[in-house]
Amino acid sequence: VLMYVFLLFGPVQQLTGAAASFGQALPAAERILELAELEGEPGAGSQCSPDGTAGDTLVFGDVTFSYPGASVPTLVGLTCEFGPRGVHVIVGPSGAGKSTLLGLATRFRDATTGHIRLGDQDVRGLTPADVRKKVGLVDQESFVLEGGVAECLRYGSPGATEGDLWAALDHVHLGATVRARPGQLDAPVGLRGLGLSGGERQRLAIARALLREPSILVLDEAGSGLDAEGERLLNLILQEQGRLRTVIVVAHRLSTAVAADRVYLLAGGRLQAAGHHDDMMRISSQYAAMVSTQRAGLFAA
Ligand code: ATP
Repeated sequence: VLMYVFLLFGPVQQLTGAAASFGQALPAAERILELAELEGEPGAGSQCSPDGTAGDTLVFGDVTFSYPGASVPTLVGLTCEFGPRGVHVIVGPSGAGKSTLLGLATRFRDATTGHIRLGDQDVRGLTPADVRKKVGLVDQESFVLEGGVAECLRYGSPGATEGDLWAALDHVHLGATVRARPGQLDAPVGLRGLGLSGGERQRLAIARALLREPSILVLDEAGSGLDAEGERLLNLILQEQGRLRTVIVVAHRLSTAVAADRVYLLAGGRLQAAGHHDDMMRISSQYAAMVSTQRAGLFAA
């Protein structure tokens, strides 16, 4: 664990402001502990069955959340349902509470009031580790990786066979790239030298999450850095995964929202509107304004 803390914190400091703000919402050290499959905060629910019966629907019921010591709540009266299956995209201005929502979905934080259900179970009845077996998180720090391809993939799934690794790589359209590399599964993925590109590392992080076969895949999309082909592949992977499981994405790209089954506009900690992109353009002037002011395919901050 300490090695990964060390490896992660250097590169993380070089990341964009968007990544840094996500780090505020989900403490990096907690995520690293989670990767090592240790129990994270909060601790309630540890008496519950390790397997649970949670399904592939995530429901927020009148959820309000305040950070400790904060004078105003970050999320207010949030009621929404993600799944079963499909690609669900959350958009909103900076500080809207998008990352905080993901923190609640993965039980790095608990709702102050209201309830969050995974299938028919309240997440408070599951341990944080159990929730994260069902809800696989890929955030902007989890694709800052070092080491070889297999080493990165097996982190969190130590028993995965080579066949499992290749299948996961194929799911994220990285199989051909890795097969063409000297060393193949041992090829380096690091930030420097001959490693993978930022977009490829992000897809590798998705592959790592998929190896754990989550019912719900949660992705915090990078704010920038994907070329057109990387963007096309990411959207394709999200569509493919959306047929198999519930996919929730905090999106900064217009193309991700356009391709989604459902878009949720969050602003000021409240859900302002939800629906397909085409409907959102009609029913939400705030969404239409965000779309019209987007630059180079990215929603304005
Ligand atoms: P961005 O698009 O910039 O990442 P966001 O919509 O993801 O923004 P959050 O990161 O969830 O927004 O932050 C929502 C609010 O909660 C902000 O006002 C932020 O300053 C505050 N906040 C986030 N993390 C913490 C924390 N650990 N402690 C206190 N306040 C926090």
